[in-house]
Amino acid sequence: MRTEILEKIKEKYGSRATDSSFECGLYSRDLGPVPGLLVNPLFNTTPDLVVRPSHAEEVAEILRTAYGSGIPVTPRAGASTVYFDSVPIKGGIVMDVNLLRGIVELDEEGMTVKVRSATTWSELEGYLNRKGLACKSYPSSAPAATVGGWLCMMGYGLGSLKYGSMLSQIKSIEVVLPAGEIRTLTSETEPSLDWFAGSEGTLGVVTEVEIEVRRLTAMEHFMLLLADESELLNVMQAFMNASVTPYNLHFADQHCLRAMDKLGFGLEGVDSGCTLGIDYEGTKEELEQARKTVEAITSENEKVTRLEDEVAELEWDGRFKALKLKRGGPGVLGAEVWLPVKELAGYLAEVQTMGPKYHVDLFSYGHVVTPEYITVMTTFYADETRTIPYIINLSLVKKIQDVGYRHGGCPYGVGLWNTPYLNRIYESARLAELRKRKQQLDPKGLMNPGKVYRPPFLMQPLTYGLGMDVMAGVQKLVGRGGSR
Ligand SMILES: Cc1cc2nc3c(=O)[nH]c(=O)nc-3n(C[C@H](O)[C@H](O)[C@H](O)COP(=O)(O)OP(=O)(O)OC[C@H]3O[C@@H](n4cnc5c(N)ncnc54)[C@H](O)[C@@H]3O)c2cc1C
Repeated sequence: MRTEILEKIKEKYGSRATDSSFECGLYSRDLGPVPGLLVNPLFNTTPDLVVRPSHAEEVAEILRTAYGSGIPVTPRAGASTVYFDSVPIKGGIVMDVNLLRGIVELDEEGMTVKVRSATTWSELEGYLNRKGLACKSYPSSAPAATVGGWLCMMGYGLGSLKYGSMLSQIKSIEVVLPAGEIRTLTSETEPSLDWFAGSEGTLGVVTEVEIEVRRLTAMEHFMLLLADESELLNVMQAFMNASVTPYNLHFADQHCLRAMDKLGFGLEGVDSGCTLGIDYEGTKEELEQARKTVEAITSENEKVTRLEDEVAELEWDGRFKALKLKRGGPGVLGAEVWLPVKELAGYLAEVQTMGPKYHVDLFSYGHVVTPEYITVMTTFYADETRTIPYIINLSLVKKIQDVGYRHGGCPYGVGLWNTPYLNRIYESARLAELRKRKQQLDPKGLMNPGKVYRPPFLMQPLTYGLGMDVMAGVQKLVGRGGSR
């Protein structure tokens, strides 16, 4: 029965569907490599069929057919996530939504744009810039990440400090619910559009998004050098408390700068210390005020040096290239922590003492995304071609998350691999509410099963935590392990 249904979909969608094991294999991974030894005994990550619908009615038809036959469906857009968010774990259909692309309608008077969900942020920004407009915010993966994909993740990135989360900028979305019903949702409907923010493809497929835009204005970029991380938080807070809110406020710790330097990406005039980047956009008056703010904050603090403007501009131009750090690899492993800003100094101090204990160099960088929270990425080199040392290295990801947790933080994004931390990410009432929504919209549990709501049996927090701690103990004992 299942085979016949899949065969029918394949026939109908012709060159837009494939069950070739080679092509399906390409959909069994994302940007975060995990050894088959860990994945294959537990999960079926190779889809039986990949299909590429080109409009909402086709999405609806495929979902209706799959739902009626009990076949799981996993939506996949730019696949720029790392927690197996868009990788199936029960086979079935992967719905590659990348043909749902392009601008639907620009409302210059209302300052909103309606786009198909797989339009990338760079495409949208390019289109808006040509009209004298701009996105209010976008992820630092904008060249690959899609509008729908970011909404279905948490939706914080560049511009969020000034303009709020992506959710707060959305007017309406068109979605196809798991059983194939096409709906337009707003904050007033039942369900409300906010159910889809962070839903990670588990509640249906987003096909269109109507979002606020802003006027394209000039920008100014500044880069400060600090002797070490102890002063970072104070300076950061001075910028956050000033009268002009930065568009983007980001740091790189001394280990990150040193690693970049080794790769030939060092910043001119920097041979030690950490950096704080401040990017402003706005009217001439706002930028004037911003310049005065930078001057005031730097002149009253002798531990802070302002780098040349060109350095700050180059850094802004390279804002989508954080992964160049990977060139020192073969690969990198790491954890992204949603951390209270006020805990940054304590977090970095603890992470920096942790590195030598486990024989790894830990590099941290991050963006302030709300007045209270910063997303911090802490990474280290690992060699995915050396399976056993790499598996042992994976335990350090948990150790980094543990440091984050001790400082009031939690993982940013859930997917599969962060399900053991669900009770750190959500309070129990919130998690119960999310599970209720899932049950209401997808009682058969067929949309992107295994993600977000519960850890799989072998990843229950207690067993997972114990296993990871034992492996981290091994990493401590065996010295360098697989890391470099
Ligand atoms: C260098 C780099 C920088 C990054 N910077 C940021 C950042 O600043 N902020 C941030 O939040 N993340 C960031 N990320 C993570 C990731 O790129 C973003 O979350 C991105 O928005 C995901 O979009 P995507 O199109 O790649 O989605 P995918 O990875 O394809 O999918 C993500 C999830 O959404 C679901 N999904 C995708 N499209 C749809 C749809 N149309 N309908 C329903 N479900 C769907 C999938 O099933 C999956 O669960 C970064 C990643 C990298 C590699």
